Amino acid sequence: MGTRDEERLSDGPGPRQGARRVAVVPHTHWDREWYEPFQSFRMKLVGMVDGLLDQMEGDSAYTDYLLDGQLALVDDYLEIRPQNEDRLAALTAAGRIAVGPWYILLDEFLVSGETIIRNLQSGIRRGSDLGGVMEVGYLPDMFGHVAQMPQILSLAGFADAVVWRGVPSSVDRTAFRWVSPDGSEVRAEYLVAGYGNGAALPDDAKALVRRLRSLEEEFGPFLRPDDPLLLMNGTDHQPPQPWLGRVVAEANQIQGEFDLAVSSLPEYLAAAPHTDLPVWHGELRSGARANLLMGVGSNRVDVKQAAARAERALERCAEPLSALFLPAGEWPEPFLSVAWTAMIRNSAHDSVCACSVDDVADAVLHRYAEARHIGEGLSQAAVNALAGSMASAGPVVVNPAARERSGLVEVVVTAAGPPGPDVQVVSERAGLPGSITLDGETVRNMLGLIQGTRIDNDAYITHVTLAEDDTGLDITIRIGTEPRPGVPVEEIKRELFTRLTARPDTEVRLMLDQPPVRRLLARQEEVPPFGWARFAPAPLGHPAVVEDAAEGAVTVGNGLVTVAVDPERGTFAIDGVTGFGQLIDSGDHGDTYNYSPPSTDTVVDAPDTVGVAVGERGPVRATATVTAIYTWPDRVDEATGTRTGGHTVPVETTVEVRADEATVRVHTRFTNPSRDHRLRVRLPLPVPAATSHAESAFTVVERGLVAEGRADETGTPTFPSRRFVSAGGLTVVHEGLLEYELVDPVADGGDGRRATALALTLLRSTGMLSRVGMATRPLPAGPMTPLDGPQMLGPVAVDYALRLDADDPYALADEVTVPLIIGASFGGGTRPDRGSALTVRGAEVSAVRRRAGRIEVRVFNPRPEPTSVEIPGRSGWLVDLRGRPVEPVEGRFGLRAQGIATVLLDGE
Ligand SMILES: [Zn+2]
Repeated sequence: MGTRDEERLSDGPGPRQGARRVAVVPHTHWDREWYEPFQSFRMKLVGMVDGLLDQMEGDSAYTDYLLDGQLALVDDYLEIRPQNEDRLAALTAAGRIAVGPWYILLDEFLVSGETIIRNLQSGIRRGSDLGGVMEVGYLPDMFGHVAQMPQILSLAGFADAVVWRGVPSSVDRTAFRWVSPDGSEVRAEYLVAGYGNGAALPDDAKALVRRLRSLEEEFGPFLRPDDPLLLMNGTDHQPPQPWLGRVVAEANQIQGEFDLAVSSLPEYLAAAPHTDLPVWHGELRSGARANLLMGVGSNRVDVKQAAARAERALERCAEPLSALFLPAGEWPEPFLSVAWTAMIRNSAHDSVCACSVDDVADAVLHRYAEARHIGEGLSQAAVNALAGSMASAGPVVVNPAARERSGLVEVVVTAAGPPGPDVQVVSERAGLPGSITLDGETVRNMLGLIQGTRIDNDAYITHVTLAEDDTGLDITIRIGTEPRPGVPVEEIKRELFTRLTARPDTEVRLMLDQPPVRRLLARQEEVPPFGWARFAPAPLGHPAVVEDAAEGAVTVGNGLVTVAVDPERGTFAIDGVTGFGQLIDSGDHGDTYNYSPPSTDTVVDAPDTVGVAVGERGPVRATATVTAIYTWPDRVDEATGTRTGGHTVPVETTVEVRADEATVRVHTRFTNPSRDHRLRVRLPLPVPAATSHAESAFTVVERGLVAEGRADETGTPTFPSRRFVSAGGLTVVHEGLLEYELVDPVADGGDGRRATALALTLLRSTGMLSRVGMATRPLPAGPMTPLDGPQMLGPVAVDYALRLDADDPYALADEVTVPLIIGASFGGGTRPDRGSALTVRGAEVSAVRRRAGRIEVRVFNPRPEPTSVEIPGRSGWLVDLRGRPVEPVEGRFGLRAQGIATVLLDGE
């Protein structure tokens, strides 16, 4: 470092009286995939980094470079140029190239809080291989910022953030104090003119000075006389400008207004103003100063659903089950690492936001599918391990969540006698006792079709024997409802093949012994937290029933909730509140970034015809399906801006009520034939509401009826919710239906307004990556590339659940989205019929996993008062997000309101 300082001092005459300091931070912003696929951008990345290494090694005046705050670029580069790792590491170790702290520059609203933390931890871990990450929470381009980001950064040891989009109009300086709901705060540098305000600097000192003057004017009211100017010298996918060091030195020599230096963000921030800054509490979602791009939560609903399912499989099932039910030495770190790398890469702002070309969306969907496959496979393996240790035989129900839960399970059992009053038969299969005689050739051809013991979902080979005499071969196969270990199917297949080859004309007598089976639906009561219970159908206190009245009126209920289908409108009432499920289809002449109504809209808010059919009749689950036929326009005509053409579209909506639950589940299915439109479901609020409360990372955020915008981006009050949103006595839980809006306001008697309904976006179809001249955003936000994928033509399946007067939306989200998982036990182990592997009370659990062999638990307190978090019988250490010990824990610890805490437990 000494050499560098001396060089810098010799660069120019030194700080001058009255001159404004200008920190020039050379950088690039490298979207890994966006309007080109990853591999196309990477070819450019490799050339760019090749040039950067040459430039910095050969030009000591090019002192600093910010490699976009994300380590993904480093891995992507080194995969192609492994021979350059030492060169890159030398420059990072010397403090000249700054890397991290993120693994990827994420979107904060469309992924789970856990994904945000894993991203940061992954970046810090990878950066430590290169001498450490930049100690700045760099967030240059993401589409707004979650309320808890200051806390997340603080817990990882960062004191500074750097932001651009989402900053509200009330911030009137180039920095502000950004405060999380728990009171944690960071100093946030506000990039007034974006992360490219110093891109493409001229190779001419006089022109550079002119540029600085105009920039100073643009910053105008944000700058105090003594404030330094931060010049971010780079923008999207830009290579370094080789003349930078020289032109900066020359500019210093020809004038006295500005005192320029090529610099780094940490260097600039150390000397930047820290006093008298405005304060902002909570999330940054304003369009007042820069495009927030408010419609990315609702394009490509398939991507958002895939994200939600993969997150659930990994965070809520695979990790806790593997941590708690596998021996410590069998923690499946390599599989989880593959899955999390996919999740983190997908969290990039252009990736999960799906404001990208179709090839990118395909890659994102593929990564989510693989992460989910790993999550589901690991979950089942952990459940099988648990089941294998049970003392009793029979199905065992496993609860991967932190709260005791009851709920529905499906099991396959031998159909001996009547099914009982408290269960529902989903399907039945007659037994197959009997024998058939086949010729050897047929049997030989069939052998390849049998793979392992599995016949289908409900049938497994549990016993097989082979015998031979002069008259032929005898095969006996017993089939049961659950897989059994050690059945010699493959050995017998090989033996059979050998014998049939020796005696090709022999007769094969096949004896099949399969008892009748049935697939049952039952309610399992009170499975302990992170625990298990032997399957036992619970007596139903409030069985689900269906009543069909005349003219198609159908009522589904259970004594706790009543759903009455309106056969005229195709909507339904919940406990007397009418009008749920009204589908409202309107035009969308926007792009992947923003919704925008066409110049003349046609709104279809009623079906042409309605049919109602009863599905399941209880007592465990009761359903009714509304088939509503709509006429939706085909597309928005580009020339006239009106919706044109038409399609007849049947839309099936199934409402489902389960025994002993007050929740109404809704499943909507259709094949989308139309382009350029937005389909929302209108959900009436029992009580008009001025605000909503939506889940965001590690908290619930309150939002009103309006959003801040400007002429260049209208404030569209559509907001993202993670898994649930509540307003006016209604709670909606969903899987990937992130966008909602409070609508249909009425005067509240004072000078305010209250919404009477919540609109949940089910689908937003658009054919343009970006567009120009939109009503809500006149200027483009990306390339104007036509796309097919975001039109979402084809089958659409969306699911959500509704509850009136929910007292705990987190519990409801678990009830609706986290499954109870079935394992098959053959008995003979030592595990009792019921138990819990871990108890955590007093806070929401975000993660249970193993780190270095020990169990790590992350909790958060989304409530406005402090809590005591209890982990009975366990001790350990509170750690920060870098794993550094903070204080010891013995069975419990206090957690501030809205706080996040991570505990590393002692022992295994
Ligand atoms: Zn970007």
